[in-house]
Amino acid sequence: MDANAWFPASYDESRRRFRDSLPGLQARWPRARLEQHVLQEHPDVSIDWLWAEPGQRQNLVLISTAEHGIEGYVGAAVMKIFIEELAPRLDPETTGLLLVHAINPWGMKHRCRVNSHNVDLNRNFALDGSYDPAVNPGYDRMRSLLAPGRPVGWLPREDLGFIARVLRGLISPGVAAVREAALLGQHRHPQGLYYGGTQRQEETGVLLGLYRQALENYASVVQVDVHTGYGPRYQMTVLLPCNDPTPSAEARARFAYPLVQKVDASEFYAISGDMCECFVHLRDTEFPGRSLLAGGFEFGTFGDSLPALIRSLRIAILENQLRQHGACSEAAARAIRAEFGELFFPTELRWREKALQDGRQALQGILRAYRLI
Ligand SMILES: [Zn+2]
Repeated sequence: MDANAWFPASYDESRRRFRDSLPGLQARWPRARLEQHVLQEHPDVSIDWLWAEPGQRQNLVLISTAEHGIEGYVGAAVMKIFIEELAPRLDPETTGLLLVHAINPWGMKHRCRVNSHNVDLNRNFALDGSYDPAVNPGYDRMRSLLAPGRPVGWLPREDLGFIARVLRGLISPGVAAVREAALLGQHRHPQGLYYGGTQRQEETGVLLGLYRQALENYASVVQVDVHTGYGPRYQMTVLLPCNDPTPSAEARARFAYPLVQKVDASEFYAISGDMCECFVHLRDTEFPGRSLLAGGFEFGTFGDSLPALIRSLRIAILENQLRQHGACSEAAARAIRAEFGELFFPTELRWREKALQDGRQALQGILRAYRLI
């Protein structure tokens, strides 16, 4: 099959494909059922999920996609691989499924990372329910670089200004500080970049409810949450939250997968309000007897060189500026949307083929490590 056929062309097509997978799964899990949560302010989109209960509730495999809306197009391809190739190899007597299509359906439909309130949901899973405004003071120092408060002008001129400001930032305070200020998240500037919100978002509440149900009912939960945009271009990274006790090197061997990293500043980058970290925290505080892997797949796109990081930062800033303040011309808006698409859902066939291969390999490796296939 052509690699492109694995990737849906629209949110609606993806949701239809996901919902149509129910009868096939019911052949092995007769009680499998679909549920959904329609977004209050956007009734044209919904978070859809499928529960397939096993004979005895021992293991649960949880696949989730599109926490960052636009990343759900690659997420949908991983979901299809799982449903068609891996699910048939699981034991429906002891292993159940929770498959979540589009945690951030509005973002997926409109090809944004954030939800309709400009909230990055992966900065909204506050461990203690409070959104600390003091997180990430570095963001404010770099605000003129990260979130210019005006419409996007003529792109070549924007680029000159951006390059000048980014070079200044790289000299002082330096690459690591710019990266942290940009990516850690912040809870002070609602129109800014990587805004984590000041209250729990509707989508976050739905996921936390599902996480609680999963931990209440199953002795062992294995999650894969699919993302794109960071890491080497042709090598997907398996991510473990910073509070997972397994060292990355040990996980690499267990999963027979070449690249596993922790979501922290030394290996990947630090995140305030990370969903998988919150899942592990929920297990630690309320369900300490349960086994949980809260893993992520991160498909790199532009690459991890310094020029690639600068290219990613440029388009993240421009896309946010476009949504908040508009652009001087439709041509500039189109160019920004196309480049932003390439950052999270590349069009290159070779990239897509390798993504399918890596996704398949890592799913197999993880399911084997837990003796589920
Ligand atoms: Zn993501």
